[in-house]
Amino acid sequence: MMDCGFGIAETKARLERVGLKPCDLTGIVVTHEHDDHLGGVAAFSMKHAIPVYMTRGTSHWLPPEFPAVLVRVIDSHSTFEVQDLRVEPFPVPHDAREPVQYVFGDGNARVGVVTDLGCSTHHVEEKLSGCHALVVECNHDLDMLWGGSYPVGLKQRVAGRFGHLDNRTAAAMVKNLERSQLRHLVAAHLSQQNNRPALAVTALAEALGCEESWIGVASQQDGFGWRDA
Ligand SMILES: [Zn+2]
Ligand SMILES: [Zn+2]
Repeated sequence: MMDCGFGIAETKARLERVGLKPCDLTGIVVTHEHDDHLGGVAAFSMKHAIPVYMTRGTSHWLPPEFPAVLVRVIDSHSTFEVQDLRVEPFPVPHDAREPVQYVFGDGNARVGVVTDLGCSTHHVEEKLSGCHALVVECNHDLDMLWGGSYPVGLKQRVAGRFGHLDNRTAAAMVKNLERSQLRHLVAAHLSQQNNRPALAVTALAEALGCEESWIGVASQQDGFGWRDA
């Protein structure tokens, strides 16, 4: 499992929806300390004795009572394995202590996930190139953000280079990638206040020159279902 912002019961319910039980999990890989990613990790990990993988900077945010035996500190540039899964972390520009995002691989397919990044970098695009599936942050529509009700300081933070990707920047980043293997693209981490699924889909489809129906959207309520390779 990657990140966990929910409480124990909600996490269990969401796992059940995709046919999984807590005991099916062999690890939780964490991206950074923000509450929507780390908030539920410690409780779930302790309840089910599941090890957590995170950078040193992120591990500082675990509660003091968290058992050291469950912590696996990772290097943000070094690939590691969780059973049969190859996990490639990479650093991202985001306003957290030592944030990373991940590419997961099983030897056949590579799945890249970026949920929180303020802007794209050459290194991020190198890591995401050649993936078979991508889950990409489309946090906000710039016009909705600037015209919306957030305080000015928060708008600047969200739109800043260590904040979150807007639809058009996300689309431009995906367009830059080597995409010959790409079979699935899912827009994720959409703001409920500052975005609409249709805006994210249109931005991605226009940039890639593909059908809008080919692009998936993860909703905060339902996430997204299993996909066939
Ligand atoms: Zn964040
Ligand atoms: Zn987030």
